[in-house]
Amino acid sequence: MDHIYDLIILGGGPAGLSAALYAGRSRLDTLLLEQGAGGGQIAITSELENYPGSPENDSGADLIARMTRQADRFGAKRTSDTITAVDLTGDVKTFTGDKETYKARSVILATGAVPRPIGCPGEAEFAGRGVSYCATCDANFFRNLEVFVVGGGNSAAEEALYLTKFARKVTVIHRRDALRATKSVQEKLFANEKVSFLWDSRVLSLSGDGLLSHMEVENVKTGAITQIDADPKDRVFGVFVFIGLSPRTDLFAGQVTLQDGYVPTDEKMQTNLPGVYAAGDVRVTPLRQVVTAVSDGAIAATMVEGYLNR
Ligand code: NAP
Repeated sequence: MDHIYDLIILGGGPAGLSAALYAGRSRLDTLLLEQGAGGGQIAITSELENYPGSPENDSGADLIARMTRQADRFGAKRTSDTITAVDLTGDVKTFTGDKETYKARSVILATGAVPRPIGCPGEAEFAGRGVSYCATCDANFFRNLEVFVVGGGNSAAEEALYLTKFARKVTVIHRRDALRATKSVQEKLFANEKVSFLWDSRVLSLSGDGLLSHMEVENVKTGAITQIDADPKDRVFGVFVFIGLSPRTDLFAGQVTLQDGYVPTDEKMQTNLPGVYAAGDVRVTPLRQVVTAVSDGAIAATMVEGYLNR
């Protein structure tokens, strides 16, 4: 007979790992399903300065490694598999993966969100050949080269600062004339001599001969279009895209109620379906941070325990 877990946690970022830790401590028979290396968006975040208690110069990857070890200590199982279909409607929830099918009496959806693309011509073609969504992963390829960062939020500002450690010059391209990022991060960015700004601008197209070396940028106020070319000595420049996130909810859309693609829950992290909880960035929430994700995960796992006892 198929094994039926008490709880399956979908997603191995901070929300999922926190839920695993709490479920493990409660001795729930728990399986955390993650895709690939796991860790979520924070695992590719270069520097983390606002998670309470983190040591100075902490990285997202280091935090995830510590969280994973802690969750493992309490006995939650973890498996890497790509889940292609779910049925969350019955008392027993089913998860069909590439490797196996999994069953559980409850689930915590902690699938997070993925970087939103610009959607301009050339973006997909030059991904990995100049276009990147992860400074931690790719900054080193742009040592002493010129890079552009698209976006004006916390990710864009923090990753632009990180990129100054590698690149010769970092230009932030933002569609407005004011950043959305936290003021203290903005101050650091404005004070950095390597950083300049293209305000009121959007990227129209990206192109090159094998490597990214041309970009058209439009000033949204004047309509003027500027072509930016790589320095002939460099032959390439980098474009790092940080224009927000899209929730990863395709798998359960149509079963779980969604709001603008995100999962609405009550304060107990309960969705519209019995036994189905959500935590972290995938949830409708006023703040998407590690600190809120881990709180969500802890609440969701605790509520699952009550649900299973009932
Ligand atoms: P975000 O806060 O949603 O900011 C997205 C930025 O991209 C905004 O400046 C937005 O412009 C711009 N943008 C959106 N769509 C665009 C488009 N189609 N073309 C050009 N620009 C576009 O996203 P994020 O920076 O990725 O952060 C995601 C979440 O994680 C946020 O809640 C953020 O606070 C959080 N986060 C926190 C930290 C931290 O606390 N250390 C670090 C990273 C991320 P407008 O400003 O004009 O809307």
